[in-house]
Amino acid sequence: MPLTIAIDGPVGAGKSTISDVVAQRLGILHLDTGAMYRAVGLYMLENDVDPKDQETVCALCEAGKVLVDVRYADGAQQTLLNGQDVSGRIRAQEVGKAASAVSRYPAVRRMLVCRQQEMAKGQSMLLDGRDIGTVVLKDATVKIYLTASPESRAKRRMLQLKEKGDETPFEAILAEVNARDYQDTHRETDPLRQAEDAVLVDSSDLTFDETVSAILSIVEAKK
Ligand code: C5P
Repeated sequence: MPLTIAIDGPVGAGKSTISDVVAQRLGILHLDTGAMYRAVGLYMLENDVDPKDQETVCALCEAGKVLVDVRYADGAQQTLLNGQDVSGRIRAQEVGKAASAVSRYPAVRRMLVCRQQEMAKGQSMLLDGRDIGTVVLKDATVKIYLTASPESRAKRRMLQLKEKGDETPFEAILAEVNARDYQDTHRETDPLRQAEDAVLVDSSDLTFDETVSAILSIVEAKK
């Protein structure tokens, strides 16, 4: 039986990096679904389309102009937009904002959820995102809701930015975290919420390694 793991949670909970390590330890592929929403956001920014313009964004997706795919090189995810590897470009902060805007539209979600389900079919995989346990993999073997207080998520983000020489103040980052939380939990289509059968992991007071261990223990217990 394939082992499917769903990890959902709010922005800045460390889902992506933690999921990478958990998947590596288990020897399975990790699909970062946020990267796919970011690729759609990037397309809009690079083609001068306002990500808030629902009609145009949806029309472009429905017309097959925004093809998002994923491939793996030595186990690492590469995100493709119309056949081009955009893995580096999607990490910019404005792309995150654009991703959050376009992720509200049903046409965008349908297109990406469909691809995610296809990829996870019949193989062991870990998917992280906002709607994995509730929509994409409703019958995942293990579901985790990984969260942390807004303050500790903002603090981690601030330290990451500092390492890159970005001195954005804590209050501004906290405001951004709260705004994204609000948008992700209040959108009409597939809002972020904990699946009823998901195990809650609050990493506010856990180190990175402790969080990885906590998740691996939950996986072991469910397997
Ligand atoms: O996880 P990441 O910050 O890269 O995701 C970017 C945005 O994509 C999120 O703010 C969220 O709005 C959206 N997203 C989503 N569903 C997912 C993954 C990401 O709506 N499964």
